[in-house]
Amino acid sequence: MKYASIADVYEKIEATTKRLEMTDHLVELLKQTPKDLIDKVVYLTQGKLYPDFIGIEIGIAEKMAVRAVAKATGHSEKEIVEDLKKTGDLGKTAQKFLEEKTQVQLFQEPLTVEKVYGDLDKMAKATGAGSMDLKKNLLAGLLSNAASKEAKFIVRTVMGQLRLGIADMTVLDALAIAYGGGKQAREHVERAYNISADLGRVARAVVEKGVEGVKKFEVSLGKPIRSMLAERLGSPEEILEKLGGKCIAEYKYDGERIQAHKKENQVTLFSRRLEDITNQYPDAAELLRKHVKAKDAIIEAECVAIDPDTGEMRPFQDLMHRRRKYGVEKAMKEYPVSLFMFDALYVDGRDLTLESYLVRHKILEKTIGQADRVKIAQYHITNNPEELERFFEKAVEDGCEGLICKSINEDSVYQAGARGWLWIKYKRDYKSEMTDTVELVVVGAFYGRGKRAGTYGALLLAAYDPDEDSFKTVTKCGTGFTDENLKKLPEMMKEHKIPNKHPRVQSTLEADVWFEPTVVIETIGAEITLSPIHTCAMNVIRKGSGLAIRFPRFTGNYRLDKSAEDGTTVNEIVQMYRNQLKKFTE
Ligand code: ATP
Repeated sequence: MKYASIADVYEKIEATTKRLEMTDHLVELLKQTPKDLIDKVVYLTQGKLYPDFIGIEIGIAEKMAVRAVAKATGHSEKEIVEDLKKTGDLGKTAQKFLEEKTQVQLFQEPLTVEKVYGDLDKMAKATGAGSMDLKKNLLAGLLSNAASKEAKFIVRTVMGQLRLGIADMTVLDALAIAYGGGKQAREHVERAYNISADLGRVARAVVEKGVEGVKKFEVSLGKPIRSMLAERLGSPEEILEKLGGKCIAEYKYDGERIQAHKKENQVTLFSRRLEDITNQYPDAAELLRKHVKAKDAIIEAECVAIDPDTGEMRPFQDLMHRRRKYGVEKAMKEYPVSLFMFDALYVDGRDLTLESYLVRHKILEKTIGQADRVKIAQYHITNNPEELERFFEKAVEDGCEGLICKSINEDSVYQAGARGWLWIKYKRDYKSEMTDTVELVVVGAFYGRGKRAGTYGALLLAAYDPDEDSFKTVTKCGTGFTDENLKKLPEMMKEHKIPNKHPRVQSTLEADVWFEPTVVIETIGAEITLSPIHTCAMNVIRKGSGLAIRFPRFTGNYRLDKSAEDGTTVNEIVQMYRNQLKKFTE
């Protein structure tokens, strides 16, 4: 197939903004493409050589492309750069200079699609010493044999600037029309795409086996499935109504989505955008190898950063340390992760994407051997808005963003690639920094583990309520202590230790160790949220809820100058919460 046929169609596509016309041109191109080239032609129309998850890009830098254009056209680099300043598009510049050249040099070997694809592929895969020269020469070689119009598109392709504006969905339409017998085949072609994320592979299937072949398309291990996403609603009542009165609510963990493909002992991890991120999370891959009991499986999970000392969840930002090529080992130690599993899409040869959610969930529970750092996402099945609200607050307090409420009806399939109403997120609709420190009373402690074995992992802190003359818990704080601080803590608190909860302390949490309310420490948190667990301001803002400080950190100041009754009061925390809300709504 001549590359000129592609370039001609690209020109026509470039000349229109109408999607229908674009589709027609694409249909024309696909129809004249030989069967064995269909996947390559489809990738090329997207400016690619492979589906995104393969992670191979042509990526030629402008400087190198300028050199190649200079070499192919016989002009100086300076001339090319001058013209590029005017056009802003090296493709156009190459086209212009080649037009002049072809008037003199009429003898050319026509470029084929096979040749263009093959050379681009070599450029994409070239690495190491000499690869720069190889890439430049390959590109210059292609351009020397290209007609001016072809050169324009080749240059844009290698620079990642083809941008014909053909959406994936337009390609699917065109495939359905060209080879599926018409637009009615579109839904089947689209499903195949949603479960494979590979337009080229879908094109091959439809060309070779028609729409019947596409209908038989199944998920396959190692090939990512496009993510199912959630819609959003603002209240438990609306959510329950939309989901038919009852739903399974799950914690919406604040981490990175991972789609894990386990094939015997080999685990590949894909991100929400379906990039292969296995190298960022070797520890997560290991956890999956160990705790997924099936031989083969595709499982979805949220990967969350945890505090190595306390085991508590950390905010999403901590995972950014994993986004690096080098030093992952170190980041792995400093920012370990836990996995919270929330879906099973394939288990031991069985495609589960068309099963209802409770069926998938049951299989998920059977497939995962839960462990310290591998858990099924916390869930609660309910038809009661109050209960849903409580569960939401608990989720937020535990360091989550809120809930994802999922349909448990018969038709609750995995809607790959779609943002639909089968999943509805319920998030806090405010967020604000807590800027002031608070002085809280240490009323209890929890034993530490790992590096903190033998001392405390977290302290239970309370605010003072002068009306009732009692101390009401508001947070569990395990961050901000130096090793030295930590070592001293049990010794320092020893004299205040008591066998049971102090009568003036109100707590629904069971601490490992209780103290008489005496020691005051200075703390700062990220925000204040409603909480079904902490007793501070219970029933003040909302019935059944108290207030909690999220992501608290000890500032290092022991307020030995203050008595417990001088600490921050419940009322002050209510004021802070209200001000925070005001700031958000203003
Ligand atoms: P957001 O920025 O709000 O996360 P989003 O577009 O990335 O938006 P949403 O559709 O809003 O995604 O929410 C789904 C995301 O929530 C998933 O991509 C996943 O990463 C995360 N998540 C956390 N816990 C769960 C869970 N239990 N079930 C499904 N998704 C979850």
